[in-house]
Amino acid sequence: MVPELVGKLTGLGAEVAVEPAAGEQADHPDEEYAAAGAVVDPDALASADVVVSVQPLEADRVAGLRAGTATLSFLPVSTRPDLVVALRDAQVTAFAAELVPRISRAQSMDALSSQALVSGYRCAIVAAGLLRRFLPLNMTAAGTVPPAQVVVLGAGVAGLQAIATAKRLGAVVKAYDVRAAAAEEIRSMGAQAIELDLETLEGTGGYAREMTEDRAARQRDLLTPYIADADALITTAAVPGRTAPMLVTDQMVRQMGPGAVVVDLAADSGGNVEGSVAGKVVRVGNAQIWGGANVPSQMPGPASKLYAQNVVNLLTLMTRPADEDGAAAFAPDFDDEIVAGSCVTHAGEVRHEPTRDALRQQGP
Ligand code: NAD
Repeated sequence: MVPELVGKLTGLGAEVAVEPAAGEQADHPDEEYAAAGAVVDPDALASADVVVSVQPLEADRVAGLRAGTATLSFLPVSTRPDLVVALRDAQVTAFAAELVPRISRAQSMDALSSQALVSGYRCAIVAAGLLRRFLPLNMTAAGTVPPAQVVVLGAGVAGLQAIATAKRLGAVVKAYDVRAAAAEEIRSMGAQAIELDLETLEGTGGYAREMTEDRAARQRDLLTPYIADADALITTAAVPGRTAPMLVTDQMVRQMGPGAVVVDLAADSGGNVEGSVAGKVVRVGNAQIWGGANVPSQMPGPASKLYAQNVVNLLTLMTRPADEDGAAAFAPDFDDEIVAGSCVTHAGEVRHEPTRDALRQQGP
């Protein structure tokens, strides 16, 4: 939560308590929250009806919640089944920010999109910072310096923002995505869409499908010359519920020229680039490879503000306003597609079907 949005929650009829130093990493001292009408309370969790956080609470803190408490945070259900079990057993109603359905009505609540926007921008800025050359064309009396060539793989929310940012800095940008609709979006950003002689891969809900190994190998072959020519390569490809697709091998990176830079946003979810390490810069051939690790946290101010706005919009949807019959209440309507879609556990049950099936297969 950011101080400027505390008033939106109190306006809904809620009392807001924040743990001390909750906003410190985003440059919001406790006094700002207090001035905005929140109480700064080391014991904030103990009496909460709704707990809002970025990362999910760990099991020891879940155990301290009262039955019936609701939590709203990112909650990686496939990699942290232990937390899902802890939330279920504590009778907590847990909502996962990643599971908010991608429908028009939920756009203002979609934290995956808001954080991808921050990440995509950051990737382009990191590439520009690591490159030891101009991005734009410079025509000067002393001669002409050509613009940098940037290639972006994966043109979803993050990739399109990386393209837009690199374009604004003057680079020549080419981009590729497996979804057919992406080519038009890439062109609308002023970049060149790389068209490969390969089938497109549309999944459900506007997402990509996973590649077969055969198609992946052909995609790598066809992309190699584009990558060899690039000064900077930015990769942002993802497939929901899977580790990130491996798009660029060590051999492909070794074909890049002196001073080349690779920025792999997917490094902390498996990596799009062979050899990338989340949170580190490693060298392969001529290239420095930067591996992203919790990239939105590198721009904590805007990332927090956008996430807090997503949270306020979700809580507004889940709150029954005060009327002549009574006070406002947190009362999520489980018949609502957004509420039902984002709910992981409720009343001692796992509501998210794929997670319930996965837990059943693991056995007791
Ligand atoms: P994402 O983070 O899951 O994936 C990033 C990109 O990687 C996607 O564009 C995907 O097609 C691409 N990709 C996957 N495998 C690839 C491969 N092998 N090679 C190259 N690229 C590959 O996706 P995202 O950014 O969250 O969004 C995906 C789509 O959903 C976009 O079309 C976006 O416009 C749409 N969307 C809709 C809403 C909404 O309607 N509320 C909200 C957000 C996004």
